[in-house]
Amino acid sequence: MPRRARRAAAAAATALATSFAVSISAAPAASATPVCTDGYKGGPPATECGGRIFPEAALSQGYVQYNAQPATGFREYFDGVAYLAQKYPRWVSWRLLSADRGDPKAVSAGPDRQRSTDPADTGDGRQILIIKITDHEAPDAGKETLAFSLSVHGNERGGLEGGLRTAEDLATAATGTGSISDGVANYTSNTGRSPVFHSYPVKDVLAKEAVYLVDFNVDGWAVGDYYAVPTAPYSRGNSIGTDLNRQMPTVGRINTGRNPLTESETKYGLDFLRDVAGQGRGGLMAYGADVHGEITSNAYVDIMYPAGQFDSVKHRQLMAIAERTKSVIDATLYQGIQDQIENATGGNEGEGPDPTNTIPSKPAHWATVWDTLGYTETGFIGDYLATDLGVTGMDYEIFLNHTVPDKTWDVYLQENHINATRGIIKTAMAYALYQSQEFNDSNVAVDPGGRAGFVVNPDRVTDTDANGPGTLPGPNKDGKGQDGRPVQQASYSVSNQQWFADTSRLMGTKPFRGVTAYDVATNRPDFTSLDTLVLSDAALPRDAADRAVDPGAYYGNLKAWVQGGGNLVLTDRALHALEAMAIVPSGKVSDIKLYQPYSDITDFSAPLVRRLRQNARQLVEAAILGYGIGNTASPMTAVDQAAFTAAGGKVVGTTGTNLVSLGQLALGQGQVRVVGGALPTPTEDNDHRYGLRSYGLTYSGLYVMENAIRYSRGGDAEPVVPEAPLTVTLPLVALALAAGYAVRRRRATVQASAALQ
Ligand SMILES: [Zn+2]
Repeated sequence: MPRRARRAAAAAATALATSFAVSISAAPAASATPVCTDGYKGGPPATECGGRIFPEAALSQGYVQYNAQPATGFREYFDGVAYLAQKYPRWVSWRLLSADRGDPKAVSAGPDRQRSTDPADTGDGRQILIIKITDHEAPDAGKETLAFSLSVHGNERGGLEGGLRTAEDLATAATGTGSISDGVANYTSNTGRSPVFHSYPVKDVLAKEAVYLVDFNVDGWAVGDYYAVPTAPYSRGNSIGTDLNRQMPTVGRINTGRNPLTESETKYGLDFLRDVAGQGRGGLMAYGADVHGEITSNAYVDIMYPAGQFDSVKHRQLMAIAERTKSVIDATLYQGIQDQIENATGGNEGEGPDPTNTIPSKPAHWATVWDTLGYTETGFIGDYLATDLGVTGMDYEIFLNHTVPDKTWDVYLQENHINATRGIIKTAMAYALYQSQEFNDSNVAVDPGGRAGFVVNPDRVTDTDANGPGTLPGPNKDGKGQDGRPVQQASYSVSNQQWFADTSRLMGTKPFRGVTAYDVATNRPDFTSLDTLVLSDAALPRDAADRAVDPGAYYGNLKAWVQGGGNLVLTDRALHALEAMAIVPSGKVSDIKLYQPYSDITDFSAPLVRRLRQNARQLVEAAILGYGIGNTASPMTAVDQAAFTAAGGKVVGTTGTNLVSLGQLALGQGQVRVVGGALPTPTEDNDHRYGLRSYGLTYSGLYVMENAIRYSRGGDAEPVVPEAPLTVTLPLVALALAAGYAVRRRRATVQASAALQ
């Protein structure tokens, strides 16, 4: 498989990149880099930097320095930012995180490797700088807010190099007549809608937005600085060695070994980010993102989708910003890197369509984290910003903005790292003015064709039931964290059925109709009149009113209903209904464990995968549902390929060897659609101290489900007369989901509305 091959090739790529860095960077090692403050604090004249404070890559000689130059005391980062704010006071300001928090402990761990919050700390924590870009003459109230975490991995410098130059770009553009745009018309959108592009004068954007740039990992940066003593490489973690990008309180499974929120950088940093969100419209920042680096990739910039509980509106907003950012990077980057790498290595590894290539063959790409990197994790800043604090957000990986060339300033690479970061920030700023207009509840519709329903599963996963939260937090599952102190368990009550409620909101006059197992077993009209019925992860859920249900009658009625023209959608463990309905022999449906639920799609012409991208693979982000990270951590269910095809099934996607995870099977006048990974039930088996999500469909998984429910038995099931207004049924669907016994009352109302047809 390509991903495995790519991972295996990482060592080879490291060697390649090293030789690349050495041979390309024959120029003298970095010396003092001019950040030109034109005399301010003794800085060099602006002419040395081409008239800029933070010069373009070609006029730089090394990375912007954190530490002070020994001879002059000039600190490029702090003095450069302070001069930028002094020169453009209307557009740029700065503050220290410690001042922002009003707490001297809001600093890094520092050289003594003691957290600022620990008694043993000597008070040597390094200051963390916040840059604010906005029209300071316009009141902040009502502005959109955006936050960018830059170079949180200290050895991935491109984010901050680009961020500083972006801040200066914006200040000069706002002073003059510069503008930014939210994309380039060079692609076909996966959102199902043709994108409309906008260009805005920067001064107008900054009247409506406050943009914050921050580098939390000053320790990882300072240790590798040119003026640092002793000489050392930049460091991924802080001085304690903690990866600050695994610290966020993301909902779902938590890696107990990562000490979430224990470092002062992230603890105070999170408070700051929460304030930025709180100042935004609707209590959310419009955009939040994180910029990283990688050493093997087919794309110069990988745009990585966050893991979250995203519905059909949110996924389209996220796809849109991913596509728009890609369009800008495609149009502005990658001027000949292939040639440069090959000239340096004498090889041609980058040529051709070979998926094992480990150097870029295109500018930008977007996908899930696992589909991009071959691994995933929890606690990412980007995920937390996108799911809890922001309307949208992405993670970004920039090729070779990473360990390998490290302290050697390669003009070509740095120019691209800087320009990638410019594209990321400016596109998000422009799109933030439009994203909620492009996709929202009133213009995104999920059309089921006929009438779709689901069998209500009244069982929720909650910390308030008999087993409490199940597994307690902490490495020893005793409710105590790494430091031995008690860990608070967040409360939650989740169900995969939330997806039906969230999607019903967008289904106009035909929201999902919840039916009970009893309704199916007794062939009630609510069930028999449906065009589509979804069984999500449970073939035969407990009846919502606890009535006895005869399995023989239940499965017999289901099969007869399909044969009569129904569309039965089976997800996850509900695939076992294929056995119970005697469509495949017993034992031919398997519950399997894998890294993340996925399907290798073999037939892109099938309706089930309509509008999916050709690289679609991962279906579910299972860690947010509480599942662990590992090769056997996530659940999925699949059906034996021979048995499935023998029953007349058409394979759409496979998982592993000879297992069908996506497929469609004709039965009588109707059909069965199989989705092996879509809506797994959340689990309490791991540390989930921040709670659990209800569902975690990726953009691919979401489209599969939207496609799976699209069906009408008559070919055209559009109602002649619209049903009762949506507002009548919506709260009742939610009510039914919240309490199984409410189903009968809701059913009566739905029947009343159906009678209006
Ligand atoms: Zn990184």
